[in-house]
Amino acid sequence: MLNFDNILEVKNLNKCFDDLKVLKNVDFKLRRGEVTSIIGPSGSGKSTLIRCLNFLEEFEGEYLFNGKMIDKDTDLNKFRLNFGMVFQHFNLFPHLNVLENIIEAPVHVQGRNRSDCVNEAKILLDKVGMLDKLNSYPSELSGGQKQRVAIARSLAIKPKVLLFDEPTSALDPEMVEEVLHVIRNLKDKNTTMVIVSHEMSFVHEISDHIIFLEHGHFVESGSPNKIFKKPNSQRLQEFLKKVYIQ
Ligand code: ADP
Ligand code: MG
Repeated sequence: MLNFDNILEVKNLNKCFDDLKVLKNVDFKLRRGEVTSIIGPSGSGKSTLIRCLNFLEEFEGEYLFNGKMIDKDTDLNKFRLNFGMVFQHFNLFPHLNVLENIIEAPVHVQGRNRSDCVNEAKILLDKVGMLDKLNSYPSELSGGQKQRVAIARSLAIKPKVLLFDEPTSALDPEMVEEVLHVIRNLKDKNTTMVIVSHEMSFVHEISDHIIFLEHGHFVESGSPNKIFKKPNSQRLQEFLKKVYIQ
């Protein structure tokens, strides 16, 4: 039975880098309008999983998007436009100013009208509090500002799902909050998101569903209350003891 509450469903995902098995028989579902967070120790496969979701990595497994099978006949470049991705190190184009960074994909990849894209970019920049930096270059921005521009850029292609891979890990502590604030606003608009983060209190607050990954296995998953208040497995209990000080 197809379940259209799930925007995305991956079954039996396996991923190797040469001899190294990084993801093992992973089943992943993402419900429309919800936030799923992936937590786990360094090297457990969180980044690889998130990169598989938009086919930045090849993998084995069955993949359904909006109930439709994604297979070798799918145009992956087109399919990837369903996803906005925000990285730890921002990955802005250094030679383009803020506005040009935002309109690059809508104009050059999606072939949309430039002046429409400029108008939409201004609305997005206003939402993330960066409209006054329209003409600045990435090198002229703080880490928090770069990440807010990166989030606006990821939204410019009108993606159906946003993927965040440790969006605050490279930021000075005082800049973390300004980025989390933007992500909270997206949640209020029912944006479907997958978040990898070590900010455990933020993960607790923002997630509808949390997955604990270790050595490429889904060890345990559930609601924030289940994961943080009633963890079943010893592995998760140990992990939380190390990273989550309430
Ligand atoms: P996490 O994001 O949870 O820290 P990763 O997904 O980055 O973990 O990495 C999972 C494992 O896969 C690690 O052992 C890492 O060294 C390995 N790995 C990740 N990317 C590559 C790659 N491109 N080539 C080879 N090994 C990789
Ligand atoms: Mg990672």
